[in-house]
This record gives sequence, structure tokens and C-alpha cells, in this order.
Amino acid sequence: MIDQDLSYEEQLQNKCLAYELLKRKLRTSYVSQLINSISLPEIRNIYRAIHHGESPKSGLLPAIDAIPQVRESFLYLSLFTSLYRSASQVDIRTKMDVPAIIFAWDFFCQTFPNQIRERRPYGKVRPANFSEAWVIAQALKIGLAALQYCESCHGDTLVIYNSKFPPTCQICMMDNLRKKDSAQRII
Ligand SMILES: [Zn+2]
Repeated sequence: MIDQDLSYEEQLQNKCLAYELLKRKLRTSYVSQLINSISLPEIRNIYRAIHHGESPKSGLLPAIDAIPQVRESFLYLSLFTSLYRSASQVDIRTKMDVPAIIFAWDFFCQTFPNQIRERRPYGKVRPANFSEAWVIAQALKIGLAALQYCESCHGDTLVIYNSKFPPTCQICMMDNLRKKDSAQRII
């Protein structure tokens, strides 16, 4: 539904936000969910205009439990989520903080400039695109994931419930596996 009661300034602000999100290639359905003063066809048009005629991606949206394919991904996921939480002024367990997602994503991209794979996100560095970053923020809000403090490594670690990785610190888990592996080699 298009909200006609917005002031001109509010409409401009929404367009500006849509631009920031679409520039980072957020899936158009998420943009549409967030900004209901702009129709989905118009959102698609803005996307094409920004990306030189490229059509927005369609099809399945990323699912939080399918984002980490390998355990190492939790290093990057935990880092991204810590950045997001540090950048946010609100409780990210109850709200999505859009400016903080943008900030954390931009920082993350600067840190791993050659590792981000938008189209074929099969690498270990996750989130691999802005939509995955969005899905992480969404999952934290609805309780499908949480950033937990780990007593043994004293770091913050992302846990994703219902994924193939148990909801414990995967960074410690990697450490333990590595120690076991080198002990076996000694024997
Ligand atoms: Zn740990």
C-alpha cells in the first residue's frame, strides 16, 4: 500500500534510504517491506537505474540457517555481528537498526575487499552480500540467532539456532578440533 500522507521531506528521506539500500544490492522485497511509500515496480526501476540496467536478483531469499556452510564462517559472522552491535544505539535483539547494518556492512567490505561474492556466495567469508547481512540482523531480532559471550575464549560469538552447527562457540570448537588433530599427529 502506498502511503499518501507523507510530507515531501519524508518522501525524499525514504527515496534516499532506498537508494542507500539498493546501491548495496539489498533484495528488492526487503526494501519494499521496509519502505512502503515506494511501490515495488518503482523500487525495481531505481535498482536498474543505479546498476546500469542490471535487473534485481529474484528467487529464494537467503535463509539464516543456510548461510554458514563451513565452521570457519563463524569467525566472519561473529565479527560482522559484533560490528553491527557496536554500531547500534538500540537493542538489536528487539529492533533492526538499518544505519548500523549499513555501517557494519561497509566496514566489513573494507576489511575483506576481495572476499565478498555477490552472485556465488559459496566462500567461507559470510555475510557474502548485503542481503545476507540483512538476514543476520533480522534473525537477531526474531531470536533465530544470537551474539553470545564465550567464557572460554572471551570473545563474542554468533550462534544460529537450527543450523547444522550446534549453538555453542564455533571458534572454540575449531580450536579444539585443531588441538585434537595435532595431538593425533604426534601419536
Ligand atoms: Zn569461544
